[in-house]
Amino acid sequence: MSAELIKEKQVYLFEEGNASMVKLLGGKGGNLAEMTALGLPIPPGFTITTDACKNYYKQGGSLSGELQSEMRRAVSAIEKVKDCRFGDGERPLLVSVRSGSVTSMPGMMDTILNLGLNDETVKGLAQQTNNDSFAYDCYRRFIGMFGEIVLGIPSILFSRQLEELKSHASRDSDQEVTAGEWKQLTGLYKMLVKEHSGKEFPQDVYQQLNMAVGAVFRSWNNARAKVYRKLYSIPHDQGTAVNVQSMVFGNRGEDCGTGVLFTRNPSNGAKELYGEYLINAQGEDVVAGLRTPRKLGELKDEMPEVYGQLAAAAAGLEAHYRDMQDIEFTIENRTLYLLQTRSGKRTAQAAVKIAVDLYEEGAITKEEAVNRIDVSHLDQLLHRSIAPLEELKPLAIGLPASPGGASGMIALDAEIAETWKHNGKNVMLVSAETSPEDIHGILAAEGVLTGRGGMTSHAAVVARGMGKPCVCGCDQLSIDAEQRTIHLGDYVLKEGDVISIDGTSGRVYAGSVPLSDPEMTPELLKLLGLADEIRELNIYANADTPHDARISRQFGAEGIGLCRTEHMFFSDTRLPIVQSMILADSREERISLLERILPMQQSDFEDMFEAMDGLQVTIRLLDPPLHEFLPNLEQLEEQLRRLKLRGGDIEEEKRLKHMIAKIRSLQERNPMLGLRGCRLGIQFPEIYDMQIEAVFRAAKSVAHRRIEVRPEIMIPLVGDPRELKQLRALVDKVASQVLGEEFKTISYRVGTMIEVPRAAVMADKIAEHADFFSFGTNDLTQMTFGYSRDDAEGKFLSSYLDRNILSENPFQMLDQEGVGKLIEWAVTKGKGKKSFLKTGLCGEHGGDQSSIFFCQQVGLDYVSCSPYRIPYARMAAAQAVIASRGEAASTKAEAVALPSE
Ligand code: PEP
Ligand code: MG
Repeated sequence: MSAELIKEKQVYLFEEGNASMVKLLGGKGGNLAEMTALGLPIPPGFTITTDACKNYYKQGGSLSGELQSEMRRAVSAIEKVKDCRFGDGERPLLVSVRSGSVTSMPGMMDTILNLGLNDETVKGLAQQTNNDSFAYDCYRRFIGMFGEIVLGIPSILFSRQLEELKSHASRDSDQEVTAGEWKQLTGLYKMLVKEHSGKEFPQDVYQQLNMAVGAVFRSWNNARAKVYRKLYSIPHDQGTAVNVQSMVFGNRGEDCGTGVLFTRNPSNGAKELYGEYLINAQGEDVVAGLRTPRKLGELKDEMPEVYGQLAAAAAGLEAHYRDMQDIEFTIENRTLYLLQTRSGKRTAQAAVKIAVDLYEEGAITKEEAVNRIDVSHLDQLLHRSIAPLEELKPLAIGLPASPGGASGMIALDAEIAETWKHNGKNVMLVSAETSPEDIHGILAAEGVLTGRGGMTSHAAVVARGMGKPCVCGCDQLSIDAEQRTIHLGDYVLKEGDVISIDGTSGRVYAGSVPLSDPEMTPELLKLLGLADEIRELNIYANADTPHDARISRQFGAEGIGLCRTEHMFFSDTRLPIVQSMILADSREERISLLERILPMQQSDFEDMFEAMDGLQVTIRLLDPPLHEFLPNLEQLEEQLRRLKLRGGDIEEEKRLKHMIAKIRSLQERNPMLGLRGCRLGIQFPEIYDMQIEAVFRAAKSVAHRRIEVRPEIMIPLVGDPRELKQLRALVDKVASQVLGEEFKTISYRVGTMIEVPRAAVMADKIAEHADFFSFGTNDLTQMTFGYSRDDAEGKFLSSYLDRNILSENPFQMLDQEGVGKLIEWAVTKGKGKKSFLKTGLCGEHGGDQSSIFFCQQVGLDYVSCSPYRIPYARMAAAQAVIASRGEAASTKAEAVALPSE
């Protein structure tokens, strides 16, 4: 944040703002203003801007005089509307003070309720409501919250005093506590405040307000908010707004309540009102998950009129914002108030259904529907889940809070979850209830299981956002924190034991359980269809087997962009022949072994062509670092040693010695930079010769069966145009020999991978011999950075990331500044030489969103990625087009405008 103070207006009444002012007013503030303008029942209030937060930090943590006067004026405006006064002993105005950042950070910052209560105003509240017990309960809650959030007194000290008082007076629940006892507790709480802060609990209500606003500003920088911002790439200098709003009470009696409502089902996307509420409860009770709430449907019977108003407001808000809304409401003496609306968090499955339904209802465009999807959530949809097997008996059942199946070792706190995860274990975070402090534990865990809390508790909301399975409100769960054990019904398990959860059904199982393959729902197919209408990049698959080819096709691949032929040799029957071929002493011996391999390769290719009938299949000629195929030297040496000890078998000893000598002669210090790729094909042309022959024999054979075959032969690791020239000549020669007459009818292409920086630099010369370029960004990253792709991640990359030398792992996310520049250069040079040159990317980056955006930006024709990533890539490619048209800004801004705390 720059040191200059921002002089603009820093306080806006709700009537003065709107949702487009989200940057200044935060998501919650913008939406409260928007709802006020829509004429909805919003308790009056005002928003202190994010600029004021920035000023607060610039002034070393103090509120300026101007801000304080603006706040006073805004308080007077509320007083007028509500016909009461802040600090008045008879008709006191009470307010809530809540954070409200620009981007949604649920539960990460702090909220203070009932502010404005002191020893005098509490009497006024008691008189007004004719309810002493209620008034003093509000007061003690306020002192507790203020003490914890503003003065930093551990909340456990307050709750301990409450528990002591209850046990002393033999009260089982809060409802049984009398007015006198609440009053007594306020005295104890005030003493606690004095003891810990050295000062009396502030009686001046404006002092309370100033201190609370400062504390909310400070909560922008608490540990959990920082973790959350890092996780979701939210800028640290954005700051938070603060909303000050007159209180309404859901805890004034049996005709009061508070709840949360989604305008559509956030779990499966069904068009139905969905939510939970608690009678006689205040503020955060629903989300905090301390009491298990009731289903919204019951409100229809209990308070039909309120339910009707709520349903109408929900429909209106969804239509206004053109998205599913998550609405917080309070009922005070059967009068409905709305406290917040925001774009509702939803599961991946629900996100897809809602986007498609809204599109079909005509509420949003196809571009908006596609842009509403977080591509990383597609992974979740395509993840495996627990099959509903008869013999699987659950240990317990809870609420199905976030779908998908997962197994892991029970970890009873976030720290343990993190440590075990760090040590390579799969963990399941198990806790009585989760609080926002547990976010790093949820992040580390495969899934989350909690004993208390509803579908909208923090654990559920955060897990859903991260796409992790979660079961909440499992009341058969109890935890013995000392013994480090859990009870699930009649079963006792230890921390470290493995359990599985099914976040789709709410079931919890012992041990790990079988997971089944995901399926493409009709809605997902529809949405992917919309993405296909928008995207410009072709999406191909990296598939090496007919099985993978078929899966890719089901997922919508438009061809195979990379078939790594060396992977076809990794079977027990084939590997020994390939090894003997590599170790052969003479060309003749090698050729005779290759003749045995040829029919196997041919049949592989036939199956691939058949699976991809009508689509291109790009076959990359052999490219293993040699050591991957050589027999294990240590094992052979051990064999020889034993043989010598036993004595005898001179012939076998000779054979082993010969083999060991041969392997030693082929060993390389840097196999990744050694006899790989086209270098192997040039050194031993008979190998590529065999592979090319197998491709064209297969092409000819399937063409006879009326399969449309479109082979593309790709030469790996080219660094000089002459390598490609020579190998292209080989392909053309073998093709014409094998195809004979069919040479005219079966068309094929020959291209190269661009994965050596020199090839990228000399792209124009390389293009003379290529029909296509495929950027092998795994090797191109390795060779551009000079980081071994085998070693870097295990050795130093994480320390580079920690030290901020790199901001991302370049093997996961394409380094646009360096490697990307080579790609841009090569595309321009290549296309400059040959305008019809096809260009694409087939490294692992083909399945990464930002890398796909880059491919769109530099005008590649396709990306190729692993089969299960195909839907992700289709969606990301469509989003890349929308972003390139500049449409992203408007739709993304809308997504930002809705959420808040
Ligand atoms: C690459 O280098 O990006 C590539 C696709 O080839 P491989 O990973 O097989 O080296
Ligand atoms: Mg490579």
